[in-house]
Amino acid sequence: VKFVYDFTEGNKDLKDLLGGKGANLAEMTNLGLPVPPGFTITTEACKVYLDSGEEPAALRDEVSAHLAALEEGMGKKLGQADNPLLVSVRSGAKFSMPGMMDTVLNIGLSDKSVQGLAKQAGDERFAWDSYRRLIQMFGKTVLGVEGDLFEDALDAAKKAKKVTVDTELDAADLKKLVTKFKKIVKTEAGRDFPQDPREQMDLAIKAVFDSWNGERAKLYRRQERIPHDLGTAVNVCSMVFGNLGPDSGTGVAFTRDPASGHQGVYGDYLQNAQGEDVVAGIRNTVPLAELEQIDKKSYDRLMQIMETLENHYKDLCDIEFTIERGQLWMLQTRVGKRTAGAAFRIATQLVDQGLIDEAEALQRVTGAQLAQLMFPRFDEQAKVEQLGRGIAASPGAAVGKAVFDSYTAVKWSRSGEKVILIRRETNPDDLDGMIAAEGILTSRGGKTSHAAVVARGMGKTCVCGAEELEVDTKRRRLTAPGGVVVEEGDLISIDGSSGKVYLDEVPVVPSPVVEYFEGRMHAGADDADELVEAVHRIMAFADRKRRLRVRANADNAEDALRARRFGAQGIGLCRTEHMFLGDRRELVERLILADTETEREDSLKELLPLQKKDFVELFEAMDGLPVTIRLLDPPLHEFLPDITELSVRVALAEARQEPHENELRLLQAVHRLHEQNPMLGLRGVRLGLVIPGLFTMQVRAIAEAAAERKAAKGDPRAEIMIPLVGTVQELEIVREEADRVIAEVEEATGARLKLAIGTMIELPRAALTAGQIAEAAEFFSFGTNDLTQTVWGFSRDDVEASFFTAYLEKGIFGVSPFETIDRDGVGSLVKAAAQAGRATRPDLKLGVCGEHGGDPESVHFFHEVGLDYVSCSPFRIPVARLEAGRAAS
Ligand code: ADP
Ligand code: MG
Ligand code: MG
Repeated sequence: VKFVYDFTEGNKDLKDLLGGKGANLAEMTNLGLPVPPGFTITTEACKVYLDSGEEPAALRDEVSAHLAALEEGMGKKLGQADNPLLVSVRSGAKFSMPGMMDTVLNIGLSDKSVQGLAKQAGDERFAWDSYRRLIQMFGKTVLGVEGDLFEDALDAAKKAKKVTVDTELDAADLKKLVTKFKKIVKTEAGRDFPQDPREQMDLAIKAVFDSWNGERAKLYRRQERIPHDLGTAVNVCSMVFGNLGPDSGTGVAFTRDPASGHQGVYGDYLQNAQGEDVVAGIRNTVPLAELEQIDKKSYDRLMQIMETLENHYKDLCDIEFTIERGQLWMLQTRVGKRTAGAAFRIATQLVDQGLIDEAEALQRVTGAQLAQLMFPRFDEQAKVEQLGRGIAASPGAAVGKAVFDSYTAVKWSRSGEKVILIRRETNPDDLDGMIAAEGILTSRGGKTSHAAVVARGMGKTCVCGAEELEVDTKRRRLTAPGGVVVEEGDLISIDGSSGKVYLDEVPVVPSPVVEYFEGRMHAGADDADELVEAVHRIMAFADRKRRLRVRANADNAEDALRARRFGAQGIGLCRTEHMFLGDRRELVERLILADTETEREDSLKELLPLQKKDFVELFEAMDGLPVTIRLLDPPLHEFLPDITELSVRVALAEARQEPHENELRLLQAVHRLHEQNPMLGLRGVRLGLVIPGLFTMQVRAIAEAAAERKAAKGDPRAEIMIPLVGTVQELEIVREEADRVIAEVEEATGARLKLAIGTMIELPRAALTAGQIAEAAEFFSFGTNDLTQTVWGFSRDDVEASFFTAYLEKGIFGVSPFETIDRDGVGSLVKAAAQAGRATRPDLKLGVCGEHGGDPESVHFFHEVGLDYVSCSPFRIPVARLEAGRAAS
């Protein structure tokens, strides 16, 4: 195997091997863009190193060969005393992991070559600045020295000189600082800063490999569900210098606004600076547009390159560049992160520009982003006290108590508080706190700062760079320009879509996207409408592409109507248990307590018209669309009063010598019906088989309701679904009775009802014997909640809170199997049962109800295994429609 690729050898499709940064550096090189030459060490080399603890034997020689070629091409040698070649050693995994991995710049500088660099550049200050940066970065990331020690020394030097920014330190100051830094390294790392350039490079490469398994990197991967075994590539890139004076600088840019999608000039630029300076907020950057005045030639070239990149990647790109004495260099590009709203807008903009087609547009957005757009926002009518305004970095409306450090954020959120994490700027140490917070507010940094990038990735509300707000983390307070002070624990509200920060809690209102789905808003001209327009078009693309139909889980006419507005093509699950609650509880109690046949029949007779009315309303709401009604499923004790409460009532009545015969009978019934393990007890079809007349009454109510709708010239399409079936015999018995009742109703009303009867597949045995069950079922609906419980042997209510975090942390699964279907286990049962069912009955209708029906990943799986529809809660319907479209394109 080949472990090292020159930038001229790779391309953008080799991200697995070269990492994102390396693949794109190669792509830009081959596009003829100005990229400083270099090479990439593959993720394969990293994996060998991580597995065995040693670098692969061939790696050293390959690196030597590529370094030699690089030196040849540049006409100077790494660290050469009189004319040194300097390089950066940069990590770059397949997925960008902002701030997680470590990059070391200026490798090759030593006590000797720093002199050479000074002469070569004709700038002593620059050479010593570069050297102190090397020792600082190398000390921190390679030798593990506490970074603050260097920062403090730098601050002390500035203070001693009574200056505020680092550019005001001269060569002599920086030279002294280098001596200080070397001392820090010696004391803290117990070794001298290495003077041998190759040793510097090799140690840095190893450090990049090691950083893959750093705690923060691991945490980020868990959060983002990035596999732990990918490894990182390492890029060795010849240095270009933005710190060579005012005609040099470094910047970041987006080819369009990552928050709105609008085309324009977006980015930040910092003169006389190197590397991270621009995002670290150590000096104030200028907006990219100002580069036009500073260096028109480089600005024009950059605009040209940005256009080339957009047309080439056919997407928004983000870019890192450096200008060295008027010469522009490209140091990184990648398809840029963006807000959910921008994703929809950009996708449709690119379709309009003819760069991508509809199918591709669907790949540019996700159901998760759509879900994010359906979040509520702040009420614009509300009376608010604005504290200030920062940069809208990641949208959403977040309200919480102000906290000023990560530790407090985590602690308070664990105890159920909603918090807003306020920092001057964030760094990787704040990750825990960012996860715990509702939103993040910083007073420094732009759209490309750590806080902004990470928050966008997490879908968390973030306002950054609110410079007018003075953040004092030591005293735990924030001071607004008007003098208003927010102390730790005070409520604040931040708007990640406008960048505004408010005192106190601001009420929230529904999102325009939801208003649109509800039919209360249509396309137009202002900002919200532009988004609505984009969503509208993308949904149309998805609806055209998808094969899966999308139904709703809805129990009443109101939910059904809402689901219909959201695009539901039927009801996949109507639970009938709610029809037994409220006022009707008493009737159910009587049914359960009935001593005689007549008593039981009487209470059923009273329930019948009530049930029928529910169904008539539902069929009317869903006229012309299928409505799957599940017969009673939960254990009966759920309809009886709580055992403790009842015992108290009985005891009280006894003490007061009041009549309490009914309570006593109820209590006995509760005891009788008590189950150790209700989830696996008397429920579902088992109820229908042991409580005479119960299912019969429900089937009759459905049939009579359908007949009534027919008589009213409606088009009812009821499907009767039997829950928790484990064997075909259960289904046959229920079915026989149901067929009889339906025939009776048809006879009595003269209507032809065509009611389909089917079953849920939610027990492993049902899935395993699906071929037999299909003989008695016209449709299957996979109940993946119960199926997951029974396949894993997990009781959902118990395990999620108790040991799932441990499982997730240990990586046993990347996501809860209740959230995303477990393809290998539960999924393979679904797949086999679908096949077996269809083998028996080719026109068997297949669907899924349960939360997985609205989960993006799972929808793709259900598409792949050939189900006919997914059913989910009304609110998730747009997400399911979109993902079904994405799955099919
Ligand atoms: P990250 O993944 O954290 O962005 P990078 O590898 O991109 O890390 O490098 C960090 C900073 O150093 C970036 O601003 C980048 O542009 C800059 N940089 C990296 N390599 C070079 C180089 N060869 N010359 C000049 N600047 C560089
Ligand atoms: Mg970078
Ligand atoms: Mg179930």
